[in-house]
Amino acid sequence: DAAGSTCLIGKEQLKLMERLGEGSFAVVKRAIWTQDDGRKTDVAVKLLRDSSSTVAEELQLEVNNMHKLRHPNLIRLHGLVFANPIMMVVELCDGGALLDRLRDTNKPALLASQLIDYSVQIAKGMAYLETKRFIHRDLATRNVLLTSNERLVKIGDFGLMRALPDKDEHYVMSAQKKVPFAWCPPESLRRRQFSHASDVWSFGVTVWEIFSYGEEPWCGYRGPEILQRITNGETLAKPTCCPKELYELMLQCWSITPEQRPRFLALKDLIKELQFSVGECREV
Ligand code: ATP
Repeated sequence: DAAGSTCLIGKEQLKLMERLGEGSFAVVKRAIWTQDDGRKTDVAVKLLRDSSSTVAEELQLEVNNMHKLRHPNLIRLHGLVFANPIMMVVELCDGGALLDRLRDTNKPALLASQLIDYSVQIAKGMAYLETKRFIHRDLATRNVLLTSNERLVKIGDFGLMRALPDKDEHYVMSAQKKVPFAWCPPESLRRRQFSHASDVWSFGVTVWEIFSYGEEPWCGYRGPEILQRITNGETLAKPTCCPKELYELMLQCWSITPEQRPRFLALKDLIKELQFSVGECREV
């Protein structure tokens, strides 16, 4: 596999095309990537806003690990260009962010069976990441992309992702990094601890977003208020369209004690079983 060894990509191998979008960390453009053997691939290129040497060093440490990840529900990282700006060359995923699709009232609303299927796919991608000891730290529907036919969802945004050191079960994030409060469990908000179990909490919030058709979790509350509410045992309310059994799984994902949260491997099967029991739901 030629791509297996190419994690550093030369700038001259990329022909940058139109802009696809932008986020807080990067401007994203479509590009054509010509590999050494002449093969051409349509890709997305993320041009990082912060191309400082600190970012370059961090990415250099992670790129070999990230590059090994291969799963249909994860945006594949083809490689990095260490230029100014630093560019991440990733799999193109044309259908836009899942969050935008959920909110789009000009298209027919997604059916509950489709929402379940997306949730299963996200759980599968996360289960794979867990077996590779990767924690994502920023799982949310804004970071999940749809393929153009809307059949597949792929988890993206490797910006915050980290491999766990061999012996540790959690990772402490450095103080400068921003934390997506409404998607984080108490141990992340208090002690900046991130683990597979904190990803499971974020997964619960992500499924909540999916069944709320893109509502904002804890809308109107600031970080400290969210922390206070969740430690008082308050949870996000059951979205109208969400089957009761699925909401119960979400509540388990939001157990205050990390060890009590389900694992992704179990979640993907448990959610899949619900596929057969849901009716249709078009109501938003
Ligand atoms: P953040 O969401 O944390 O601000 P970011 O700055 O890294 O992250 P993204 O959200 O990943 O930026 O990307 C911005 C937009 O670019 C997305 O909403 C999407 O429309 C588009 N985009 C990102 N990655 C891809 C991709 N692989 N294929 C197609 N479009 C993409």
